[in-house]
Amino acid sequence: MDTLYLVIPCYNEEEVLPETSRQLLAKMTSLIEKQKISEKSRIVFVNDGSKDRTWEMIEQLHHENPMYQGVCLSRNRGHQNALLAGLMTVKDHCDMTISLDADLQDDIDAIDEMVEKYYEGNDVVYGVRSARDTDTFFKKFTAEGFYKVMKHMGADVVFNHADYRLMSRRALDGLGSFKEVNMFLRGVVPMIGYRSDKVYYARKERFAGTSKYPLKKMLSFAWEGITSLSTKPISMITRLGTVIFLVSIIMLIYSVVRHFMGATTTGWTSLIVSIWAIGGLQLLAIGIIGQYIGKVYLETKERPKFIVEQYLSDEDAEDKKTLS
Ligand code: UDP
Ligand code: MG
Repeated sequence: MDTLYLVIPCYNEEEVLPETSRQLLAKMTSLIEKQKISEKSRIVFVNDGSKDRTWEMIEQLHHENPMYQGVCLSRNRGHQNALLAGLMTVKDHCDMTISLDADLQDDIDAIDEMVEKYYEGNDVVYGVRSARDTDTFFKKFTAEGFYKVMKHMGADVVFNHADYRLMSRRALDGLGSFKEVNMFLRGVVPMIGYRSDKVYYARKERFAGTSKYPLKKMLSFAWEGITSLSTKPISMITRLGTVIFLVSIIMLIYSVVRHFMGATTTGWTSLIVSIWAIGGLQLLAIGIIGQYIGKVYLETKERPKFIVEQYLSDEDAEDKKTLS
């Protein structure tokens, strides 16, 4: 039996913690009883610099039952960093982790299936929302638009998957070798590789408290995601510059023709051609400079170039020989 650690980032979640901790404990106990996970499994709350009583509550839970653990960050660093901090803190104590939100909007009954898929040999199991019936039209529209724009901008994210996912220990080790400062987990996890699968669930409403992701945070999150994963916006500028420059050539031909037909005021031809040509050339030049900056940007991230899944070495072959 393998050890499961649940990792839950919490920011000002005093209203939901009592209920969340109770439900998660029941879930873990039932999994242990069913002998799906070991007794050493834990529930880890990560306090992301909350201003309310969240940390005191986590401390109290830990004293009441060692099944609960807590990680306290020095200040608020945002959901992604809090989650990463939790995962990296626990990764050497467990065989698998599942990350989920403190408000239990993600159906915890999907945990059973995730664990099942882990035993089938998957290193990453993505929780995917099958329905958004409970979300307001606005949330649904913005959230689904988010995934589409991300994909368009060259960020490879799993559609309708937030941060509810199971990761095995070696997948976490792989994640740990990504050195980038702007870590956008949803985009980076698929980059790790290994076998993965999906589990579908219906997303519920927040049962208490308010969303910690207002529109402003959501937009900046989307922008972070795009700019931290890809340099596609730069290529788009280059392409736009090229198009405008091509238009300027067409404009050149057009205005020269108009000029010889005598249908223009003096000075119009040179003026209109320069406007288009200079505009296009400038955009193109900015785009090209941008391409280089983009390269420098990706280099400074020092991403691992590969992660070795298995190594069939001589020692391995020797072992087999002695066995047979
Ligand atoms: N969260 C966090 N730090 C922040 C904002 C949010 O750790 O700065 C946590 C929050 O406590 C919750 C999760 O991120 O566990 C998701 O937040 P929320 O449910 O408010 O987002 P929504 O479901 O509305 O997108
Ligand atoms: Mg939520």
